[in-house]
Amino acid sequence: MNCPKCKSENVSISTVTENKKVGCETIILYILLAITILGWLVLIPILLRKKTETKTYAVCQNCGHRWEIKH
Ligand SMILES: [Zn+2]
Repeated sequence: MNCPKCKSENVSISTVTENKKVGCETIILYILLAITILGWLVLIPILLRKKTETKTYAVCQNCGHRWEIKH
């Protein structure tokens, strides 16, 4: 594997666990749900559940450039 920035082969791989990003439409849906009491019953378990995803990054040891490796 080569760095796309400096073309160096001195690249290390690291795996990190990140919290999943919440999209705008999801936030709007949450607000709409929160207005109703029934909505809260749906919303609370969703908010309590932590969403994480594992991402693999390659880090160039030469220039420090970091990019995500798609599976
Ligand atoms: Zn580089």
